[in-house]
Amino acid sequence: MNPIEQTGIKNIAVYARVSTANQEEEGTIETQLVEVREFARKAALNIIREYCDDGWSGDTLVRPALDSLRQDARSKMWDTILIYDPDRLARRYSYQELVMDELKEAGIDIKFVTVTSPSNPEEKILHGVRGLFAEYERAKIKERFRLGKQRKIKEGHIMVSQPLYGYSYTPKKDKVHGFYEINPEEARVVKMMFDWIANKGMTIRGVIKKLQEKGIKPRKSKRGVWSASTLTTILRNEAFIGKAHWRSSIAVIPKNPLKKERYRKTQKSSRIARPRDEWMSVDVPRIIDDDTFNDVRTKLSLNKNTQIGARHPYLLTGRIFCVCLKRRVGSGPQRGRYKYYVCCEKVASFPLLKKCNEKGLNAIHADNLVWERLSGILGSSDLLKAQITHESKESEMNRKYFKDDATVIGEEIRKLNEQIDRYNRAYGEGVFSIEQLREYVDPIRNRLVSLESDLRAANNHLLDVGETNFPSDEAIDLFASNFKKISKNLNFEQKREIVLNAVEKIVGNQSRLEIACNLILNQHVGYRTNHRNGWDNTQKVENLGKRIPFHFTIELPPPDYRNRPGSLNRFRRDVPNKLTAFPK
Ligand SMILES: [Zn+2]
Repeated sequence: MNPIEQTGIKNIAVYARVSTANQEEEGTIETQLVEVREFARKAALNIIREYCDDGWSGDTLVRPALDSLRQDARSKMWDTILIYDPDRLARRYSYQELVMDELKEAGIDIKFVTVTSPSNPEEKILHGVRGLFAEYERAKIKERFRLGKQRKIKEGHIMVSQPLYGYSYTPKKDKVHGFYEINPEEARVVKMMFDWIANKGMTIRGVIKKLQEKGIKPRKSKRGVWSASTLTTILRNEAFIGKAHWRSSIAVIPKNPLKKERYRKTQKSSRIARPRDEWMSVDVPRIIDDDTFNDVRTKLSLNKNTQIGARHPYLLTGRIFCVCLKRRVGSGPQRGRYKYYVCCEKVASFPLLKKCNEKGLNAIHADNLVWERLSGILGSSDLLKAQITHESKESEMNRKYFKDDATVIGEEIRKLNEQIDRYNRAYGEGVFSIEQLREYVDPIRNRLVSLESDLRAANNHLLDVGETNFPSDEAIDLFASNFKKISKNLNFEQKREIVLNAVEKIVGNQSRLEIACNLILNQHVGYRTNHRNGWDNTQKVENLGKRIPFHFTIELPPPDYRNRPGSLNRFRRDVPNKLTAFPK
């Protein structure tokens, strides 16, 4: 029997959530927790765990704390969950029901501070009606707000929190609409930027550099420098020729997010354009004439196209890193001749001074040498078998390590449970009061919770390293001989798939690369990813057994700067070495 049940103390967990946007009406996470804790105290409930999603919208169920709550519910770490009101679980009634049903199935009791949790069919219907009504209210308010905003824009009223660069904003006052006025200093900068691109042939990068030299900073930026995307967005804004647009784009959930995160606070972080006839426009004071504006717009899109067209296929993109541990990326077209993997730190810190001084490494050499070694390994059954023998020994050692770990933790858990038993017996014999019992037992319970999670982790590791399902010798021979046959005739796309599949990480400088592989022997190599650089590694390929880790290093030939643009040798190749002619 569970010792805690004997004492009659009910162990519960609490869940709290507030969204960033609605803190005014919902209060902060702290105020919510205060209410919940007070409720628990009065009802003699013992809180052993608090799950908080601070700053999370209730429109999604994918929230970190809610996820671990649902996970823990299954392992029965507590038997009741206390929540301020059903809205904390989810905004949508159907989502609330989903989570509540799931918890009830796991045998968890759900309690709310503001409403009683439905216990019979009638109450459940009442609860549903209440939830649907709240949902309807919210939709109504949202729609009313949207229509009101639309009407105001139609009347020529400008509503923004941040005006466009080049303008100042005067919000609504008495009966006068909010409006834009030209901000003289910023408007001067805007005119300069348009002039540089339209008449001086500058690129966006050139403009960024020039602004930096002149000490002109954007309004808001952590680094205090202009970014190419901000600048491009600004330069395309038709407000400068007298028309400010609203509703020209719509927020959507990104298809190919740059970062693959499990939890996203902002779901709709990407924007797509709306059809032009749905836009709403308001007249604003003009800063730029039509000709200059259109000229710049054409030049910007021209720049963009030339860059995309000339991109060189880099074999190692997405897998290669600098020794400073930032990514290395294939350098731009640079007149189509010079291919380097350059450290991103340099790109990211532009136009400020770069912190990492590592030079770009020769992409042609790196691509060829890495491919040569990798295909050499994949085509040699001897090398693959030797690595598997080595790996098996290694996992045997790991297995022993985690097994020992699990034994030690298990022993400590047993001792703590004995201790709790002793306290319970003493309480039963009237040695001390219930308050004293809680004082003694609570810290032990907390320690137990953390030990149990350690034990789970150790057991999971054990399962991981326990898997010795390496491919058989026959499978390896077959794979290696097949690979040898096809490897000579692979095109770039196929090589790229194999690299993405086999290589985990390459770290290096100009002279040396360290390559970490995780080889998977598959009769046909396939790697599909949505990401533009193949960074997404979540795709599972049907495999013939455990992946084989493989590490190797490659020395790169010394760089040859003779023909690089800007190198003196390029112009003085035929000039005799003057040093020898120096007088003694
Ligand atoms: Zn670097």
